[in-house]
Amino acid sequence: MNPLNGKTAVVTGAAQGIGAAVARKLAAQGARVIIADVQADAARERASELASVTGMEVTAEPLDVTDSRAVSGLAEKSGPVDIVINNAGIATNAPTLDMTDEAWQRTLDINLTGTFLMCREFGRTMRGRGGAIVNISSIAGFKATRPEVHVGYDATKAAIIGLTRTLAAEWAGEGIRVNAVAPGYANTDILKAVGAENPETLAQWKSQVPQGRLMEPTEIAEVVAFLAAPSSSAVTGHVLVADGGYTA
Ligand code: NAD
Repeated sequence: MNPLNGKTAVVTGAAQGIGAAVARKLAAQGARVIIADVQADAARERASELASVTGMEVTAEPLDVTDSRAVSGLAEKSGPVDIVINNAGIATNAPTLDMTDEAWQRTLDINLTGTFLMCREFGRTMRGRGGAIVNISSIAGFKATRPEVHVGYDATKAAIIGLTRTLAAEWAGEGIRVNAVAPGYANTDILKAVGAENPETLAQWKSQVPQGRLMEPTEIAEVVAFLAAPSSSAVTGHVLVADGGYTA
């Protein structure tokens, strides 16, 4: 049986990478899926691809998660949403003394404020009815990234863990579960922005992972789907690490 039959899910940043793999997995498990991404064309293409592969209703909504009014507009027009996956994120790579105000603020706006706005606006619509929210943190929320430095990214990914725990406690009585997934280095475009095209950097990252490899987006999607599904009904306020042993 499809565990997500009859459910509607919104996945931010799902035009590509981890979000696209999550959208695909949720649709394959029977959910109607809304892909919300700032890349409008890519989101539309991804939605039609996933609709044809899974046979489910998959639609695209252009959305900048930093735009409070746009987020609340989407929450209003989407009808009852059961699952929200806050996956949109960017990485900024700079030694701290070179980090500009603009880059710092943009990282906070997308990774942290975007997650907060999505939780607040969709949480409003889930109140009393219940739902499952999964926020995408990172191993960077637990450990300093190195050899490269991501001060803004690391700070936001740690903050997402705090936000997740607070909302889990605050909304447990409303039937809303709030969990986080902390992926390890995963094979997506975001790594290119922070040095993956340099073979030495890539080798250094892999050498810090006991499994000696990057995670695949499909592996992250599996654990996100678990936290989104009714079978994890007892789990809230949890951070599920999927990192090949990096934080072990
Ligand atoms: P990616 O760059 O392939 O995908 C990020 C997506 O977010 C893109 O589709 C992009 O258009 C979208 N996005 C960016 N800004 C947005 C905004 N303002 N509003 C809406 N959408 C926006 O990267 P990914 O690796 O798939 O990253 C997905 C999530 O996983 C991020 O939160 C990232 O921090 C997290 N993560 C990734 C890794 C990794 O190694 N790949 C590790 C840990 C955590």
